[in-house]
Amino acid sequence: MHPFALSIAHEPAQAIAEHLQDPHLAFIAGGTDLLGLIKDRATLPARLLDINHLPGLTRIEARADGGLHIGALAHMSDVAAHHEVRRRFPLIAEALLLAASGQLRNMATIGGNIMQRTRCAYFRDEDDVPCNKRRPGSGCSALHGLNRNHAVFGWSEACVATHPSDLAVALAAIDAVVVVRGPTGERSINFTDFHRLPGTAPERDNVLGRGDLIVAVEVPARPEGRASHYLKVRDRQSYEFALVSASAAVVTDHGRIRSARLALGGVAHKPWRLTAAELVACAS
Ligand SMILES: Cc1cc2nc3c(=O)[nH]c(=O)nc-3n(C[C@H](O)[C@H](O)[C@H](O)COP(=O)(O)OP(=O)(O)OC[C@H]3O[C@@H](n4cnc5c(N)ncnc54)[C@H](O)[C@@H]3O)c2cc1C
Ligand code: SF4
Repeated sequence: MHPFALSIAHEPAQAIAEHLQDPHLAFIAGGTDLLGLIKDRATLPARLLDINHLPGLTRIEARADGGLHIGALAHMSDVAAHHEVRRRFPLIAEALLLAASGQLRNMATIGGNIMQRTRCAYFRDEDDVPCNKRRPGSGCSALHGLNRNHAVFGWSEACVATHPSDLAVALAAIDAVVVVRGPTGERSINFTDFHRLPGTAPERDNVLGRGDLIVAVEVPARPEGRASHYLKVRDRQSYEFALVSASAAVVTDHGRIRSARLALGGVAHKPWRLTAAELVACAS
């Protein structure tokens, strides 16, 4: 195991400053993805900063306007079990419960979930085979290799990996927003703009930079939310990542779809929102 130093952050400002100043430092929340990546030598941080003691980031709040506030350190299991999450946005609870295992969901956080890295086997290969995401410029072993689980949309010659988060597919469909606190203050990023396509820089999964700390995910009130569903197709029925998944949320009137929100998972480097299909669903 690669050795690392561990310290604890007590205030967001401290965490942001330390992350900004030290390029070899990584935040650790539940550790369920990061520690695996370190074991696979896909990332080798010299220092880990434990953010679990930052105040106020585990809050799950059902907003009076019908939306949700989900703190970045809320555990997947707590969000999935929350009465108002299940009532207002069933697809969020379903996506969470179809991910990982009970033990992992008890440890893993919402911020860590949307930051998790691809499950491409070459990226996680300890033998350091060519992989542009792991070692920029080294090539892509999956392009002409084992790529059954890889991208069909938005890929590039540099990388054909997919994003593995189930929750991200649900959040992309319902116009959620990622709230980030960074060196210049707080900003909100539309969920569909949070993850990147690989292009020529597949080592960058999302738009965050040094010193950026996710503090929450905000879900706006949506009439489609209540009639929503997350469907996941995988090689086995538990403890497996998606071959393909779909989030659908609709408003119906006398059996006709009046408005729809659709996104696919397991098919691209980011959750794949289907805006054209949404319009067709309403027109038919
Ligand atoms: C065997 C196995 C099966 C799994 N199956 C699924 C599955 O089917 N579907 C699915 O969606 N997931 C699955 N997962 C992934 C799991 O959901 C993630 O490991 C987990 O959500 C990560 O959360 P964490 O809090 O443990 O993150 P960590 O491992 O602590 O961190 C992950 C990354 O996020 C960064 N980070 C964490 N919090 C913040 C923050 N607040 N701000 C900025 N950066 C932050 C860390 O620096 C790190 O880079 C599986 C994992 C395992 C090990
Ligand atoms: S698909 Fe991406 S992550 Fe997988 S080997 Fe190619 S560059 Fe690496």
